[in-house]
Amino acid sequence: MLSDAAGAWSVSVEEAVAGCLARAGVSEPPVSASDVARALGVSIVEDRRLATRGRCTRIGATPLVVVAAEDRPERREWTIAHELGEILFPEIAACVAGGDVTEDRLREQVANLFATRLLLPTLWFRSTWQTSGGDLWALKQAFSTASHELIAWRMLDAAPGMIVSIFDQGRLTARRGNCGAGRERLFPIETEARQQLATRRSPCKLTRDGVCVTIWPVDEPGWQREILRLHANTDD
Ligand SMILES: [Zn+2]
Repeated sequence: MLSDAAGAWSVSVEEAVAGCLARAGVSEPPVSASDVARALGVSIVEDRRLATRGRCTRIGATPLVVVAAEDRPERREWTIAHELGEILFPEIAACVAGGDVTEDRLREQVANLFATRLLLPTLWFRSTWQTSGGDLWALKQAFSTASHELIAWRMLDAAPGMIVSIFDQGRLTARRGNCGAGRERLFPIETEARQQLATRRSPCKLTRDGVCVTIWPVDEPGWQREILRLHANTDD
């Protein structure tokens, strides 16, 4: 599986992404997965009856991405980027020793990694991370084709000692970290940041005892969502 040789897969995916961006002539974010697909000679068609978000197929020699009707542009971008990853999977796997191109789960994992890195390329993401002080809204503005959630998880690749949590309608729905232990429950400073956000519904930052906690509301009509980041490094 991917975790067994994550480094090799990661290098191969990075190379594939760099090749795609170069072929599409994309030199800065945001990255349009649709534009990259077109540059690679991949057609995109919409099928309103599609049961899944997307799939890839071929018409003759032409690769084709079929996407479901989707009102969120970021989801459509993600779907196209993921399907491109599936189309390129044999190429990516060829560069990794032991890459079994027939394994569905592996192909899915690699396609997800490819999609994340295509919409949020490593060097550009790190650069914007640094200039913006890791601000979610600034990152979203620069990488507008990626969802807040995708950007939130990608922050875990930008620096060590971090835990990211997502709350929907006031309830914790996902929590991931890159620092091993400490993810089981919210720290008091995280709860405090949530309480402050509740009163004014604008970003809030608390720094104490070598820990920095930032929370952003990313609400949509009829749906409250918050993204909370705890970072052990207060330098940013
Ligand atoms: Zn897939």
